[in-house]
Amino acid sequence: MNREKSPERWANDLSILLTQVLGEARFPVDVERLAIEYSHQVFPASPITRVRSRSFRGFEGALIPKPDRSGEWGIGYADSLVSKGRVNFTIAHEFGHYLLHREKYPNGLQCRPEDMIKWDSEYNMVEAEANRFAAGLLMPLDDFRAQIPEKQNADLHVLSTCAERYEVSLTAAILRWLSYTRKRAILVVSRDGFIKWARSSEPAFKSGAFIKVAGLSPREIPAGSPVARNPDVVGIVDPESLDRGTWLNEPVMEHSLISDRFDLSISLLTLEGTVPVSRVEDEHIEDAVDFLGRRTGW
Ligand SMILES: [Zn+2]
Repeated sequence: MNREKSPERWANDLSILLTQVLGEARFPVDVERLAIEYSHQVFPASPITRVRSRSFRGFEGALIPKPDRSGEWGIGYADSLVSKGRVNFTIAHEFGHYLLHREKYPNGLQCRPEDMIKWDSEYNMVEAEANRFAAGLLMPLDDFRAQIPEKQNADLHVLSTCAERYEVSLTAAILRWLSYTRKRAILVVSRDGFIKWARSSEPAFKSGAFIKVAGLSPREIPAGSPVARNPDVVGIVDPESLDRGTWLNEPVMEHSLISDRFDLSISLLTLEGTVPVSRVEDEHIEDAVDFLGRRTGW
């Protein structure tokens, strides 16, 4: 095994393989089958022999060595995961651990929701790598760019179409778009009227456009947001232009999905132009939830 191979390289190599075998119409990726067949062919002494839902409590997925020391591995995902999109991402994440980390973690890994939001330790670096692999495998950038070119804006209908194409959650598809777009855009995920986390595209972040989520103190979504004004509506709300001062020191177009599932809502804020916007200097910048760091709550 090439232990130096990056998550992106692993995902890219597997994408090339899938395209060769299945052709261009190869989405969504059947990640369960891929994990089992690929591991049997390439690592016959330590294959993945079982992928199944488990009654996990407190974590969402796990890479588990077979207790009989046969060398076989299993992937488990929580039976509480309600959508196929989240199941797919979790399996891909654990497959990433298998490819990248199984030698370093012979006892396997258990992946909790909260591990995804703290990336300042070696363990969380491992989680970040698994997430980058999963994103690259399920949503290859070249294919995603063909759906939404990097200079083109997106709305929640277009992004929902991408989520269906790759059979991932809408949040995963938005995060993937934010990872490469040249547009300034910000994803805000809220629950019960409070911001849980936010993520800017790089052009937005570099222009100073980001949403502060300071430490543990909850921050309410602005009263002018459609999410705050329509708490009983469920579904995608028509995009709305909001004045400077509502979310940022500039106007934004808010695309909202108000959800009753876990009371999570999505606000995609798209911004005009590329002129840097000045921000309050001492604000704590919620860091860098690097791509797909937040599986939790999708
Ligand atoms: Zn993990």
